Amino acid sequence: MSSLLVIASGNAGKVREFGHMLAGLQLQIRPQPEGLEVEETGDTFAENARLKASAVARASGCWALADDSGLSVTALGGTPGVHSARYGPSDPERIARLLRELDGAGDRSARFTAALAVADPSGTIRLEVEGICPGEILEEQRGTGGFGYDPVFFVPEAGLTYAEMDKALKGRIGHRGQAFALLAPQLRELLDAGL
Ligand code: IMP
Repeated sequence: MSSLLVIASGNAGKVREFGHMLAGLQLQIRPQPEGLEVEETGDTFAENARLKASAVARASGCWALADDSGLSVTALGGTPGVHSARYGPSDPERIARLLRELDGAGDRSARFTAALAVADPSGTIRLEVEGICPGEILEEQRGTGGFGYDPVFFVPEAGLTYAEMDKALKGRIGHRGQAFALLAPQLRELLDAGL
């Protein structure tokens, strides 16, 4: 018998992506109950992932997995950070704002973070991991793949922007892929213990 895990997101694409990353584990993936909105009021990615996992677990009476992610730029004091999605009304405008604010900056270092949290049906957090990918913000966009800030996020280790990577490479060295690689064995242990 496989266990049920609710993904704390109403986004069908995200639910599919999570299902893909967790393939191989004996899990049935479900989206969160319709109409449930959890406010992301935390100051850190980890705090927001915990808030979402806990609220969705309690509302659904099931185990829940939540993520929170974003881009932190050193010269901008770590912003946009937890506000990455709200930094502008669209991807092109978010990128334009980022490049404007970094205009003339000597230090263009940045990092993407993905925090994942798993809560049991009582809302108690049982697992937490964080994946980080260090990089640099380019002055111009490169590549056509991906989404969000991908075309300006350059990963020196790969010599490519996120938008120039294929899915497999981004999945391996990207922040979300790294977080899932950390989560999978721990989730497997929980499943073996009867989740
Ligand atoms: P959330 O985790 O769904 O709240 O998304 C946070 C925001 O961070 C997204 O809307 C994007 O702007 C940005 N972001 C998160 N992951 C990525 C990524 O892999 N590439 C580009 N932008 C990302």
